[in-house]
Amino acid sequence: MTSIPVGILGATGMVGQQFIALLADHPWFKVEWLGASQRSEGKAFSDAAAWRLPNRLPQDVARRVVEAATPGHAPKLIFSGLDAAVAGEIEGAFAAAGHIVVSNARNYRMLADVPLLVPEVNADHLKLLECQAATRKWPGRIVTNPNCSTVVLATALAPLRQFGLETTMITTLQAISGAGYPGVPSWDILGNVIPHIGGEEEKIETETKKILGSLADGAVAPHPVRLSATSTRVPVQNGHTESSAVGLQQKPPAEAIVDAWESFRGRPQALDLPSAPRQPIVYLREANRPQPILDVNRDGGMTVTIGRLRPCPLFDYKFIALGHNTIRGAAGAAILNAELMQREGLL
Ligand code: NAP
Repeated sequence: MTSIPVGILGATGMVGQQFIALLADHPWFKVEWLGASQRSEGKAFSDAAAWRLPNRLPQDVARRVVEAATPGHAPKLIFSGLDAAVAGEIEGAFAAAGHIVVSNARNYRMLADVPLLVPEVNADHLKLLECQAATRKWPGRIVTNPNCSTVVLATALAPLRQFGLETTMITTLQAISGAGYPGVPSWDILGNVIPHIGGEEEKIETETKKILGSLADGAVAPHPVRLSATSTRVPVQNGHTESSAVGLQQKPPAEAIVDAWESFRGRPQALDLPSAPRQPIVYLREANRPQPILDVNRDGGMTVTIGRLRPCPLFDYKFIALGHNTIRGAAGAAILNAELMQREGLL
């Protein structure tokens, strides 16, 4: 396949840099355009942003001049890691100009004609793009991936729908990289836990239902699961850990749940997409796993790792799940969405 040129909106940010790192050796996509704010515009990338990842910064990207976040010269396919404060207007302008925007921001996620994808779970929701084409004035498209905590929970819950998933209670322990750069001041986070992340609980509670919902007559009917979320920020660099309890209509044995997780596969695995983890959910049997420093980078950061499944005196079962927030929860998720769209003939 000849390489497909792509652009990155918000290239200088935490998620933008993860896009650059993950696309460095991508077999299909090649970064040919970078956009960010007026602060960065007109500067070479290496002058506009300090590189904050352990991966090498590709030299062609280091030298590339960051452009204004306006459509005009950018490739058709755009990955967006824009700040939500500006993503609504800018992503809309790109879609109106004919670009396909694969976004990380919250702005369009819950709109009825916008797919909110976890490709292993709801690849069929891409059909919403037909409604988007019919209802919007723009010739482009917007596709979104979920909030970084939601993607971990939705992946863990998807295989439990077969057991009559009724209720879920979740408490997150979220990494500081989830707050972007410079993020949370060191004075606030070192040796501390912050028991609130603005808007996060609402996103988990609404986005999960849309992702687990079913598509009928061009619309997504949200899954009826009743969800309660609490979000906290902890002094971890990368990886959101989540403690969840679930109520299930059927009362399956624990082995059936573990089997459902371990055998879970989706469209990305069937299509053998470049960024697809071979096994989307890995269950660890050790009592002290998963842990961010040991498990967050499994399969390039694209795997959701689960452990500690045990009976719950209030619900039916409880467990711990972990996912990489800037890879599976952001840039890696968006790249997997674009790979799916490419293979489904939607680019
Ligand atoms: P970040 O580090 O603060 O980066 C924000 C980016 O937006 C920067 O490139 C910034 O450019 C750009 N930007 C800000 N104002 C702009 C403007 N007026 N015009 C054009 N560009 C502008 O944030 P982040 O953590 O990467 O998050 C980016 C998005 O992804 C957010 O919507 C966030 O909610 C979402 N997200 C983040 C994570 C995560 O784990 N971090 C996970 C999932 C989703 P300058 O450098 O030029 O200011």
